[in-house]
Amino acid sequence: MGINRVQFQKGLSIAEFMERYGTEEKCHAALVASRWPTGFVCPECGCTRHGTFERKGLRYWQCSACRAQTTVTCGTIFQSTKRPLTTWFLAMHLLAQAKNNVSALELKRHLGVRYKTAWLIKHKLMEVMREREESRQLDGRVEIDDAYLGGELPGGKSGRGSENKVPFIAAVQTTEAGHPLFACLTKLEFTKDAIAQWAKKSLCASAHVVSDGLWCFQAVTASGAAHARTVTGGGPASVKLETFRVVNTLLGNLKTAFSGTYHAFDFAKYTHRYLAEVQYRFNRRFDLSSILARLLRASAITSPHPERIIRAAEQCG
Ligand SMILES: [Zn+2]
Repeated sequence: MGINRVQFQKGLSIAEFMERYGTEEKCHAALVASRWPTGFVCPECGCTRHGTFERKGLRYWQCSACRAQTTVTCGTIFQSTKRPLTTWFLAMHLLAQAKNNVSALELKRHLGVRYKTAWLIKHKLMEVMREREESRQLDGRVEIDDAYLGGELPGGKSGRGSENKVPFIAAVQTTEAGHPLFACLTKLEFTKDAIAQWAKKSLCASAHVVSDGLWCFQAVTASGAAHARTVTGGGPASVKLETFRVVNTLLGNLKTAFSGTYHAFDFAKYTHRYLAEVQYRFNRRFDLSSILARLLRASAITSPHPERIIRAAEQCG
């Protein structure tokens, strides 16, 4: 068997990262280039004519038309941060390159910040990933399965009947030959209505979906997609079933990643973000060397999310 080209690709080394983003000046310049790739554009009126000046160590752009003053972080996910950009860039690098997940606790140690700061940085970046993936639609052959995470209690039941677990749907688009392309992981209740709503948002009408016998999966046809059910009877044998090989592999990896990283995590409240983080990385796994640049661009065009919004968040919409 040949080496796995996804797992063995080059990525961005620590040395390359330090070379590109090792100082505040380099990070600032990279953010400016990412936010305004063709030069400054006034966030208020769209004018490009401007002057610049420095105040209290911060660089300001002033629009020549409307006189609005802005910094490069103003209006982005980095707005109002008290941390240097080097901290944010390192966090983005660690989250983007991780094979599994990086917990807020681990991030705190790497960044040398307080736990609360690391938690907030991680959640803001996960929110960037979530918004980026929100319009993801799968097409062609799509394997779907129901899955559950969190809340394992000693002696509790496992699988569909268990208590205290967060349900979500896992969907993977594959090639006709069965190789995984893109994934979609969405927290939902397993009802026909919820599946129909999910399908309209996340599936193209030309998709053809394969699932096990869970009755509510029939509702994927609400999107116009075709649907084939394979009744597996449950149990370990069904896991091996070739029809669902890709989605089962993804779920296996996801569970390992979560149980290895988050020992006592706030999964139930922020499920949508934790799932989006996995989805974001999975869907960009073919190009690890550009994933940081893409996350930077996404962060630069994501509007500010104050802490109270981040903490309040159940999924909105
Ligand atoms: Zn302006």
